[in-house]
Amino acid sequence: MITKVRNHLSPNESLLFERSSPGKKAYQLPDLDVPPVDAAEALGAENVRAEIEGFPEVSEVEAIRHFTRLSTWNYAIDYGMYPLGSCTMKYNPRINELVARIEGLAWAHPYQPEALAQGSMEVMARVESALAEITGMDAVTLQPAAGAHGELTGILLVRALLQQRGNPRKKILIPDSAHGTNPATAAIAGYAIENIKSSETGVLDVSALERLVTDDVAALMVTNPNTLGVFEENINRVAEILHAKGAMLYMDGANMNALVGIARPGDFGVDVMHLNLHKTFSTPHGGGGPGAGPVAVKKVLEPFLPAPRLKRSGEKWAYDYDREHSIGRVKAFYGNFGVLVRALAYILAHGGPGLRNATVDAVLNAVYIRKKLEPFFDLPYASPNMHEVVFSDERQAKLGVRTGEIAKRLIDYGFHPYTVSFPLIVHGAMMIEPTETEGKMELDQFIDAMISIAHEVETDPQMVKNAPYGTRTSKVDEVTAARKPILRWKG
Ligand SMILES: *Cc1c(COP(=O)(O)O)cnc(C)c1O
Repeated sequence: MITKVRNHLSPNESLLFERSSPGKKAYQLPDLDVPPVDAAEALGAENVRAEIEGFPEVSEVEAIRHFTRLSTWNYAIDYGMYPLGSCTMKYNPRINELVARIEGLAWAHPYQPEALAQGSMEVMARVESALAEITGMDAVTLQPAAGAHGELTGILLVRALLQQRGNPRKKILIPDSAHGTNPATAAIAGYAIENIKSSETGVLDVSALERLVTDDVAALMVTNPNTLGVFEENINRVAEILHAKGAMLYMDGANMNALVGIARPGDFGVDVMHLNLHKTFSTPHGGGGPGAGPVAVKKVLEPFLPAPRLKRSGEKWAYDYDREHSIGRVKAFYGNFGVLVRALAYILAHGGPGLRNATVDAVLNAVYIRKKLEPFFDLPYASPNMHEVVFSDERQAKLGVRTGEIAKRLIDYGFHPYTVSFPLIVHGAMMIEPTETEGKMELDQFIDAMISIAHEVETDPQMVKNAPYGTRTSKVDEVTAARKPILRWKG
């Protein structure tokens, strides 16, 4: 059996409890040179901790090594490439962290009086104007805490505007390639969802759209480039069709990493969109947050933006709570401020040409991977891809090996798996997004690993199906885990 393990530490780590041996200690103290005192007498018995039964007794080096080894089990962007598509798992330059930790920013408090918060307010104002410039939109709210939250905010803005025009309408159109949060958003905002099939080339079918846009349609939600990594080349026409019927164009901006500095949604007809600062603008993610999902809008939607809004009052910044048409707050205070600081640091460190370069490199990396892997994996949509590429497992499935199994084998090669089984329109999807932060050497290692697995599938499919080998736990029974979860440790 071939096993290739890039991790150099054994993941077969026993529990601290299993290592325990009576009398072992992680410290050594000199003999007392003062009279001993009874702890219960000195502190009061209620303040003295009882012995913990079965508490592990280990030496210092055992404790340190145990936790250090455990820390290496966390795959991280600081460890290697993270090819998850749609997630834009780019490396987060340390300078952004440094800036976010500057005392005046890190310790700023939302209840600070406006006069003492001018610096933080200036930071937010600059983030708003940078994002408006990058997206080509007129106004930005920084309140939403994530992409999905931005979507909901954006669709509530659409609803508020249409309501003011006399009819909030009933339906939202969503392509079959959409992220699951899009239909969820539409439903929570009180809309019915109508699906649009993608064309052969993996883009919106304009004639289908023309038929579907009626007076009942409030908006189309579209990701651009879409989840196949393909640019919606008819986007101007799509906007015209919607606008002619009084409907709006919502853009899911999760894939802005393919557009920043090259094309602006505001210029191709988008009315409202969100950004994922934790994707495109370099806040570390994958650990559950915090993130930020600012929403950018055209002028007609500005009156409805969440309150308060930043406004200039003479020489100073102030919060404007007096917003008659606002949909209200969507988040406590002003959003996840630390994430906003990182985004501004990232934007300013790159500058306009640097941001454009990042986009060009992200696209180049994805196209490079596509070209190198195309001879080995099926590519169902052959349109030119941008920042990510979606293969299918069709060739390997004929030998009984599916996308999830190839992904697990990738773990043995020291890489985080790609995105498995999304987007749903590709059967057996293998979605890869390298981002601009990977250099050629890392990309080549990833490509070599994928090609090597493709060969393994041909010579020994069962071996691939049983992977991973280099992890403490190999295949788990995912169905039983989902149906009968054990949520309590019965030690
Ligand atoms: C990540 C993503 C979202 C959701 O963003 P969150 O910040 O995870 O809520 C929505 N749409 C697409 C296309 C995405 O990739």
